[in-house]
Amino acid sequence: MHIVSLAGGIGGARFLRGLRTTEPDAQITVIGNTGDDITLFGLRVCPDLDTVMYTLGDGIDEKRGWGRAEESHVVKEELAAYGVEPQWFGLGDRDFATHIVRSQMLEAGYPLSQITEALCARWQPGVRLLPMTDDRCETHVVIEDERGKRAIHFQEWWVRLRASVPAQSFALVGADSAKPAPGVLEAIDQADLVILPPSNPVVSIGTILQVPGIRSALTAKTVVGVSPIIGGAPVRGMADACLTAIGVETSAQAVLELYGAGLIDGWLVAEQDEGVTLDGVQVVARPLLMHDAEAAADIARTALDLAQELAR
Ligand code: GDP
Ligand code: CA
Repeated sequence: MHIVSLAGGIGGARFLRGLRTTEPDAQITVIGNTGDDITLFGLRVCPDLDTVMYTLGDGIDEKRGWGRAEESHVVKEELAAYGVEPQWFGLGDRDFATHIVRSQMLEAGYPLSQITEALCARWQPGVRLLPMTDDRCETHVVIEDERGKRAIHFQEWWVRLRASVPAQSFALVGADSAKPAPGVLEAIDQADLVILPPSNPVVSIGTILQVPGIRSALTAKTVVGVSPIIGGAPVRGMADACLTAIGVETSAQAVLELYGAGLIDGWLVAEQDEGVTLDGVQVVARPLLMHDAEAAADIARTALDLAQELAR
């Protein structure tokens, strides 16, 4: 069985770990969000790809959900001692090595998809991890503060401002001319099922869907999504701030409508969200909290069973 999954960072990675556990023989292709990518200290950082790679490769800091386990921060302290900005983005020493390798390979002319494959040769995530695109395509956030109306990089809004300044809109700079990375459309075409994990619907899944060609390829497939919103709130993170910015309510119902019945065939909601409905979509209510690996595997199992039933 070939499964395609789209993924952001923490929510996506934890779900994928469950998916791999519950269906170990499946071939899983993950299309990762690269809208969060940023160049810092001359290095190319791909937070969502790395969260998936480290989580599935057993190198993740389990407690934080991102970055490397057993991390130290000597390089960050030394950079700060030079007064080098930005100081609001936390990169650990072990993590720095990943960004150095990636940046070196980019400099040598390799595309991000090949670099990601090379990094995964070490981590053996058990899935094929593809960036959504090899092209530079970064999410920016339009805000208005004392300096006026301006667009800032997504990471500045998310990490430095902790989404405390309301976003007026998001712009995926570079999306118009971005092409899906090699292998992305082929994987979708060959997929038996597509699963959308409970990743951020706006700045993770929504971003991947904006790469020209990906959404239309997915609509031909059986797609089951897992709601990242439970009882009117995101489980973790600030997805509510992202949804508000695009005029969508923070609810399992509204996220389903945002994705639309044209894309989604099955939708998993938490038990307290029972009653969510949309014409043409089969909605199933189940516990959706990934409090441990086993719970994530159970949720993935439910999503897969539903997808298989709908694909028949
Ligand atoms: P990020 O890139 O690290 O922000 O991660 P993602 O985009 O993959 O996922 C973030 C989303 O995951 C948030 O909107 C959370 O609500 C959702 N999420 C995190 N943990 C859980 C969980 O245990 N259950 C569900 N249903 N959603 C979760
Ligand atoms: Ca992210």
